[in-house]
Amino acid sequence: MNGKECKFCPTIIGWLKTQKGKWTAVEANPIKRMGSDPLPRGKYYTTFGELFDANDVPNGVDVYRSHWGDCPGAEKARKN
Ligand SMILES: [Zn+2]
Repeated sequence: MNGKECKFCPTIIGWLKTQKGKWTAVEANPIKRMGSDPLPRGKYYTTFGELFDANDVPNGVDVYRSHWGDCPGAEKARKN
């Protein structure tokens, strides 16, 4: 995924279309869950825009962590 620095913090983010057809900001580098350890808290999207909670992410699948959970600019971004 092509990343660009977030307007509000130094994280490199990209945009992904959710299954509801809305674009959402995610961390540009995908991660994979391996074994039964959950990923860091948050929401994750597959490349197809399928949404999973950290505890429910399937093993071995590339997922992108939703960025708005811990971005200091999330409030502002929502209002725009
Ligand atoms: Zn940010």
